[in-house]
This record gives sequence, C-alpha cells and structure tokens, in this order.
Amino acid sequence: MPVETTDTLIVGAGQAGIAMSAHLGENGVPHVILERGRIAERWRSQRWDSLVANGPAWHDRFPGLTFDDLAPDAFASKERVADYFAEYAEKVRAPVRCGVEVTRVVRNAGRPGFLAETTHGAIEASRIVVATGPFQKPVIPPIVPAHAPVTQMHSASYRNPDGLPEGGVLVVGAGSSGVQIADELLRADRRVFLSVGPHDRPPRSYRGRDFVWWLGVLGLWDAAAPPQGAEHVTISVSGAHGGHTIDFRDLAARGMTLVGRTEGYSDGVLSFAGDLGENIAVGDANYLSVLDAADAYVTRNGLDLPEEPHARRIGSDPDCIANPLLSVNLEDAGIGTILWATGFGRDDSWLHVDAFDTDGKPRHQRGVSTEPGVYFLGLPWQSRRGSSFIWGVWHDAKFIAEHIVTQRGYLAYSPADAQMPAGR
Ligand SMILES: Cc1cc2nc3c(=O)[nH]c(=O)nc-3n(C[C@H](O)[C@H](O)[C@H](O)COP(=O)(O)OP(=O)(O)OC[C@H]3O[C@@H](n4cnc5c(N)ncnc54)[C@H](O)[C@@H]3O)c2cc1C
Repeated sequence: MPVETTDTLIVGAGQAGIAMSAHLGENGVPHVILERGRIAERWRSQRWDSLVANGPAWHDRFPGLTFDDLAPDAFASKERVADYFAEYAEKVRAPVRCGVEVTRVVRNAGRPGFLAETTHGAIEASRIVVATGPFQKPVIPPIVPAHAPVTQMHSASYRNPDGLPEGGVLVVGAGSSGVQIADELLRADRRVFLSVGPHDRPPRSYRGRDFVWWLGVLGLWDAAAPPQGAEHVTISVSGAHGGHTIDFRDLAARGMTLVGRTEGYSDGVLSFAGDLGENIAVGDANYLSVLDAADAYVTRNGLDLPEEPHARRIGSDPDCIANPLLSVNLEDAGIGTILWATGFGRDDSWLHVDAFDTDGKPRHQRGVSTEPGVYFLGLPWQSRRGSSFIWGVWHDAKFIAEHIVTQRGYLAYSPADAQMPAGR
C-alpha cells in the first residue's frame, strides 16, 4: 500500500498545533495534524478540576474568536479553554486526526523529507512541526524515596482535595500550580505546608488594569530571554475565585505553614533550605518593580488611571517567615501527602533527528531547528516570554509558517520561472 504523504506534519493538537494549522492553512500549505488524544487533551485530562485560565478571556485567546459566553475579564474554566481550541480548529478547518500517536520519526535516506510511524500507519512529510507541548513529563526531584511513609504525587495527577489521602499535605513549589493547589487544600480544611522557592509574583491588577495588560504595554511579554540567573524562576499568578494577587502572607495568616525550598529527607524527616525569607523578599521586589514600572508608564504617557497607593502596603512577616522551619517530621506533623508542583520536562524520544544538544534539549532558533525541515513550537522562551502561553504561541506559529512558505518557494525554484520565494 502506498504511504500517505503531506507537506507538513504537525504533531500535537494543543494550542500550538492549532495555531500552526491556522497559519499554514492561510498560506495554502497542505498539512495534517496528528493528536494522540483529543484536541487540547492536556487541558481536558491532565490538569486539576477547578483550574481556570491564568489570564482573562479577552487576553488568553487567539485572534478572530472570542469566548462569547464569558465576560472579557472572566477567567475561562479548563474545559472551556479546551472547547475554545476545538471551536478554533473547526473555524480554521484544521485537518486534525485525533487518537493517532506519532511513535517514531526518521529522516528519509538519500531523499528529502521524513517518515513518521504512527499508531495508524505511516505518513511521509517534507516537514515536521513538533507541537507536543512545553510541559510534558512530570518532574519530581529525587529527594524523598518511594518507600517513604507518605503518598507522593505530581501536580499533573492532582484533581481535587477528595482525591488525596487523609491528613496534611506538603505542596512543594509555589508557582501558579503549587500555590493554587495549596490554597484549594487550605479551603478544604487540610493542614497545608507550602515549600516556596524563587518566584515572580506580579500584581493581579493595578490601577484598574490586569497584569497581562501591564506586561503587554511594558514589553515584558516580549522579553527575548529571562534575566540572567532567573531562567527557572516561576511566575506565581491565579485566575481562581475571580483572580487575585498571590499573597504569601495572607496564606500564612489563613493557617498555611510556609517553608523554604525542600532539600532533603532522612528517616521520616524532611529538611528545608533557610531561603524562605529571601524568596519572599525577592518575590515582593518583583511585585513592587511591576508597580514602579506601571507608575512610570502612567506618568510618561499622561494616562488617567486611578492611583492605588494601598497596593504598595506589604504586611509584616508572619512567624513562619520570620522563624522558618528547617525540618519537619512527617508523622508528627500529620503529613500524609507530598504534592510535587515542581514542573515538567520534555519527551522527544520518538524524534530521531539531529535537532538536540548533548543535554537532549531542542537546538533551534525561534523554533527553526538545526535539522532542516524540523520545527519546534510552544517551547518556553522560544522567541519571547509569551511563547508557551496561549496568545504568544500564535506569533511563533506565524513565524514558522512564513519560514515554511519561504522554504517551499526555494524548492519550487526553476531557472525558467525564477522569482524571489514568497515570504521574503
Ligand atoms: C497547569 C497549567 C496551567 C496553564 N494555564 C495557562 C493559562 O491560563 N494561560 C496560558 O496562556 N497558558 C497556560 N499554561 C501554559 C500553556 O498554555 C499550556 O501548557 C498549553 O497546554 C501548551 O499548549 P501546547 O499546544 O504547546 O501543548 P499541549 O497543550 O501540551 O499540547 C500538546 C499535544 O500534543 C499531544 N501529543 C504529545 N505527543 C504526541 C505524539 N507523539 N503524537 C501525537 N500527539 C502527541 C498531546 O496529547 C497534547 O494534546 C498553563 C500550563 C499549565 C501546566
């Protein structure tokens, strides 16, 4: 049986794959999207029940389709976000095939293109766009052995408080996931410890504008690379309960015990770094720096946005910050679960091409990899801070589509009919 062929094969139908399809479709590039689950599967089945988008509906979307059942400032539920991408796929007539996993991709020998093996047969493509997600494999640091007398779970497996064993919970990691889950557990009357590492915590809103607006006008979404030394600093924001600024002192006042970074485990006892105060202080400085930049922007542009002096009031440190615990005995503290909100890694083991460095990280420039014809989309900081977020991936997809159009133009060159490739 002849093998099916296409110009561009997109692997994955999350927001990245759908954005890619929209741009390729607009440019008339034949393509196919293969998705092993459903469209936006990760939003449907790999995130906790109460998750809502971190950005408001007016912002966390693609051009040309609004969340017409939501107020612009509302935060879409995770199911609504997934429905949105399914709706978008339909709108742009994205040729998505669900339930098909790409299991292996190799470069063709002695001729251009790639052969993709899938759970539904093989397909040949001139180009491959890897849109399999920035957050794929849950990462748990090897600190607590599996045989320790405590349930260990990654945030990707957490659904709701009822799904956890009885007792207290240590949540490790205070990025958006960790802090939202810790808050939910506290509201469910669990005893909660939260292990806080370095983080940014922009104000949810300031002077009547959401932080996504401020990051936009201040050019911070477009930052090309994280500040030196801050490559792994997580951003701690929440759209839950209508959206609010993450305030660690408030969590402590409501009964949460904050601790520093989780460092070690021995014989039922967890140990923490003494960095809690510093991490909180650096997070405060980040928060205040956004207010400063916003005020300067208002003054420079003569904007009429209401002043908000109380936003600068930062309360005194509660006891758990002033005198942080450096260790805790799991049994004595009644901790039955450690919930690791410690991020994700990639799994490109199916992709047998020359596009990775010695650490296995994609080698690329704005998503154009070192293996001609292979593209990555949706990587954190692919071209800018916004790259792995809903609105940001749209721009990276456009750039890649233009690159593909240009390459197709070169390949279509014939001396008799020579023209500059489209897109140049
Ligand atoms: C908890 C959480 C909350 C977030 N909230 C927001 C938010 O509010 N706003 C925002 O802008 N961003 C948010 N993000 C960041 C980002 O928008 C999401 O991670 C988003 O899912 C990334 O989309 P993606 O298309 O790049 O990847 P994914 O959504 O991960 O999609 C990749 C797809 O590829 C499929 N796939 C993988 N391997 C294969 C294979 N070999 N063959 C076929 N299919 C495959 C997967 O099934 C999946 O559907 C959040 C991230 C997390 C973890």
